[in-house]
Amino acid sequence: MTGDKRASTKKAAKPKYLNGKALRAGANGRKLAEVVANEIEREIMEAGWPVGQVVGSESDLLARFQVSRSVFREAVRIVETHRVARMRRGPNGGLVVTTPDSQSLARSAALVLDFQNVTGPQLAQARMAVELVSVQQAVKQIDEAGIQRLKDTLRMEVEEKNEAEAEGAAVGVLGGIEHDLHVVISELAENPALKLFVDVLISLTSTSHGTTKFRSEVRNEEARLEVAEAVHAAHEGIVNAIIRGDAAQAQHRMRRHLEAMSAWLD
Ligand SMILES: [Zn+2]
Repeated sequence: MTGDKRASTKKAAKPKYLNGKALRAGANGRKLAEVVANEIEREIMEAGWPVGQVVGSESDLLARFQVSRSVFREAVRIVETHRVARMRRGPNGGLVVTTPDSQSLARSAALVLDFQNVTGPQLAQARMAVELVSVQQAVKQIDEAGIQRLKDTLRMEVEEKNEAEAEGAAVGVLGGIEHDLHVVISELAENPALKLFVDVLISLTSTSHGTTKFRSEVRNEEARLEVAEAVHAAHEGIVNAIIRGDAAQAQHRMRRHLEAMSAWLD
């Protein structure tokens, strides 16, 4: 690396201070770059995620952390991978706070779970667990605005289905209608931890594992439209139970719907 000069190596050999605390590698076996990345992430969390704000320029941060350029750049790669901040080049450049998204977590989770040989039924089981709690919480938290969102989502499903039918383009219709309602319900549950796991599990069961298997199962467009009809009918039943405030019925219908979906996916 061109920036990794002798001078910066010498600099890095000096004690490393940040806000008066020494930064050391080796604690818990972590590398210095990980320690620096962790410190940057901690500061951003403590500052309450000022998205879009510059944490500092590369030279500011090099001076503060007192680490070599190569260590600093590795730390930047770590925070960029975590979607906490990214390095912006140019005159107003520097490390800019970004919005972490569940999609990056879903990708990491997919890799870890694939490495651990997770099966489709195991993912479906985990998704069932979080979605049953999600729908129960949605019943507890629902208000007029939430009811309207559920109705709008159902209406959009019908529109999407009709459009796909009219265009004879049923491929993709399920991807479009199958996920939105589940995400809306998880948002109505007003628990960011639940919503995160629903997001991750939906994306795992529908993209990395679901789609390919699903396509081999539902072969023609007519069959896809039939499944889309069944999905929409199931969604209507779930929404009606939520609106009535019937948590047990909403959970029962969610369970049956997810069981049916995983049968199609296998
Ligand atoms: Zn569904």
